[in-house]
This record gives sequence, structure tokens and C-alpha cells, in this order.
Amino acid sequence: MPNVKRLFVTLIAISTLLMVNTAFAEEHVWRAADGVYRYGNPAYGYYSMFVVTDEGVIAIEPVSSTHSKGLLKAIRSVTKKPIRYLLHSHNHWDHSKGGQVFRDQGAKIVAHEEAVEWMKANPHPDLVLPDEVWTGNRKDIVLGGKTIELHYMGMNHGLGMTVFLMPKEQVVYIADLVTPNRVLFSIADFNIKEWTRTLTEIEKMNFKTAIYSHSHAKEPFGTRSDVTQTREFIEDLQVAIIAEFKKGTSFYEIPETIKLSKYEHWDFYDEWLPINAWKMMFSMEMGSFPWRHVPAD
Ligand SMILES: [Zn+2]
Repeated sequence: MPNVKRLFVTLIAISTLLMVNTAFAEEHVWRAADGVYRYGNPAYGYYSMFVVTDEGVIAIEPVSSTHSKGLLKAIRSVTKKPIRYLLHSHNHWDHSKGGQVFRDQGAKIVAHEEAVEWMKANPHPDLVLPDEVWTGNRKDIVLGGKTIELHYMGMNHGLGMTVFLMPKEQVVYIADLVTPNRVLFSIADFNIKEWTRTLTEIEKMNFKTAIYSHSHAKEPFGTRSDVTQTREFIEDLQVAIIAEFKKGTSFYEIPETIKLSKYEHWDFYDEWLPINAWKMMFSMEMGSFPWRHVPAD
């Protein structure tokens, strides 16, 4: 092929790729409120949130470098404003990797002290340490007239778990604590008593629209009822386990015996319900775990 023709073909290929990538980013963006968006590829099952203000952008939940590159493209499909902040919900690698993509954009990376201490002790090649560490139960980030409240919710799942609330827009971002239309993933790192307490507190928060880090619902946005349903699922599972204990079913047969028909339309019902039952039974037998001593301020 002559050089000029080859160059032409290459340029067409690159521009097609760029068009596809832009379309890809836009296809995975949903607008929740004025300046508030959800991003995620349903094929991978992780969703982030970003907020566009006159003074720049705030991104929540980097997930991984691959996800963050997609999130950055999604942001760029909406605005050219600088990215000021990247906020972490909690410590777990499958949510907290990829921060370098936003550091390269000049964003300040922010996480709760508990999550940061864990990140320092558990390095990963795709994980960068945050620039700003916050403590206590509450921090507000105000940018370009928009406010995001960071609520540290205590022991429930992972470390440093933060729920993000935009009071004016009535939008909340919730990672891992609620996964609509899907049985919870293993619930291994959940303190069930504290998880239930946290869900009750979230139910009292003032929001109309929920963005979840994972959702198998048809609709892109959720509501308070997803939070309530998750709390009820935990309670129903406990009731079912107690009923089997009373019947005298063997401890080892209980996880496969339990059926919760109310939730059988949830994804991973067959796969994860027995695993959820195991963790719940261990907690009921041994007491709440994981647990840690939290020194008084
Ligand atoms: Zn997690």
C-alpha cells in the first residue's frame, strides 16, 4: 500500500475509534439531577457518580484504571472543566483502584482516615494513596455552589464507609451497602448488626434519587425503597435461619435449605443466598464481626 494511502486508512481507523469511544462514554452516562451524573458500563457492573459545577468537577469512586479512563471520557463528553476532586467510598480494592487517572488530571484524592490506613497497609499496583485524609463522621465539600455531604457511617462494610448526599439535589451515592435487584455479594466483610443500623440511618436521609455502585435494576436510579428492601432481606434471612434452628435442621444443611421466595427474582439468588446464609449463621453463633475498637475523639 502506498504510504499516503496507508496514512489515510490509519487516520480513518483512529477517527472511527475516537467516535466509538465518545459514543461508548455517552452511552454509559445517565443524568440524575442538574449537574449530577451516573457513569458505568453494565457489562462490568460498577457505577460511579460525577458532579459538574461552574468551578470544576467532583468524581466519586474510581474502581480501577480501566473504569476511571471510561469515567474520565464520560466527564469529558459533558464538560471541559477541570477535575478538582476524586472521592473514595471505602477501602476495598475493587472500588478504590484507578486514582492515578484523576491525579494526572490534577484532582485532589480524598478518603476517610480508616480507608487510608488500610490502603497504606495493603498496597496494590493500581492503587494510589489519597492526598487528603478526613476524620470524624462528617465532612462537606462545596464547589461552584454545589454541596456534597460526606457521611462516615461507621462499621458496616469495609473501612471508612462514606455515603455521599447532595441535600439540594436530593441525590445520594451508596457503595456496596445496597445492591438493588441482586443478592448481596457474599456479605463476607459486613458487620450485620452495624449494617442494619446504617441502613436505618440512610432510610432517614433526605433524598429522592439513589445512585448505587452496583445495581441490577432496570432503571438507572434507585429510591429509598431499595434501602428498606435490603434491610428487610437481612431481617427475613435471620428469621428463616432461626426457624431452621428451631426445627432442628443441621447447621450444615441450613444454607441449602433456606428459601426466600420474596427475593427469588433477584440476580444471584441461587448462587449467593447460601453464602449469605453461611455468613449470617456465623455472625449469629459467634457475635458481630468484623469489629474494631474505635477510640473516642
Ligand atoms: Zn466493598
